[in-house]
Amino acid sequence: SDIVKTENLVKRYSLDGTYIEALKGVSLNIKEGEMVALMGPSGSGKSTLLHIIGGIDLPTQGKVLIKNEDIFSLSEKKLAKFRNRNIGFVFQFHYLLPEFTALENVMIPVQIYNKGEAREKAEDILVRLGLRERLYHKPSQMSGGEQQRVAIARAVVNNPALLLADEPTGNLDSVNTQIVMELLKELNEKNNVTMVIATHDKEVAEFCDRIIFLKDGKLYT
Ligand code: ADP
Ligand code: ADP
Repeated sequence: SDIVKTENLVKRYSLDGTYIEALKGVSLNIKEGEMVALMGPSGSGKSTLLHIIGGIDLPTQGKVLIKNEDIFSLSEKKLAKFRNRNIGFVFQFHYLLPEFTALENVMIPVQIYNKGEAREKAEDILVRLGLRERLYHKPSQMSGGEQQRVAIARAVVNNPALLLADEPTGNLDSVNTQIVMELLKELNEKNNVTMVIATHDKEVAEFCDRIIFLKDGKLYT
């Protein structure tokens, strides 16, 4: 069944009295368990689409259904809760909190709901992502690849049904790209996490089941 459905998404950004239409009617369906690459030139609307699917930006028109829930019909508070339960985000610049260790960064999203198990869950996922020796390191003490794995750990620690990743390997070399993608593939297969991954990189797309192309705010499948 479909975990994500978008219906005729339009997004306009106003800009100096005029506007840019970043999405021009995007309708797509993604099945539970799919790993989808979202490709297209810079400025084609990939980030905008991911942000709207994840409920962190509003469409000008159209609908997003996640697990059959019309997310923009929810109150802001309910949407925030729905997002925290169901959706994980990974960005190119991972936005880890610099003052906190890897373990603390990953514990934060668990603590909102589940204080007792936060430490155990955070530790488990970090170890699974190969970071046993980095639990007490701060971001500045880790390599780029390690920081991106911490960001992935943080995104999946609540076991989201859906992971949205925006250029997750954009700042990584080829070796770290392979490591990160193998980990994502494993989470997709073993935990049945559905993934939508915006990328320029063919190496990344090769890990995916399907490629969706965006150009000038329109879909080419
Ligand atoms: P991509 O991720 O494919 O590079 P984006 O979704 O970032 O594309 O951008 C799509 C279009 O929308 C671009 O023309 C971009 O300049 C514009 N855009 C994105 N965010 C904003 C914003 N906050 N305000 C105005 N224009 C924006
Ligand atoms: P990568 O090729 O993954 O970017 P690096 O060569 O940058 O790896 O780092 C190799 C190892 O050195 C990593 O395990 C990392 O934790 C450690 N390291 C990298 N930069 C720093 C730093 N500024 N301070 C402490 N340790 C670091």
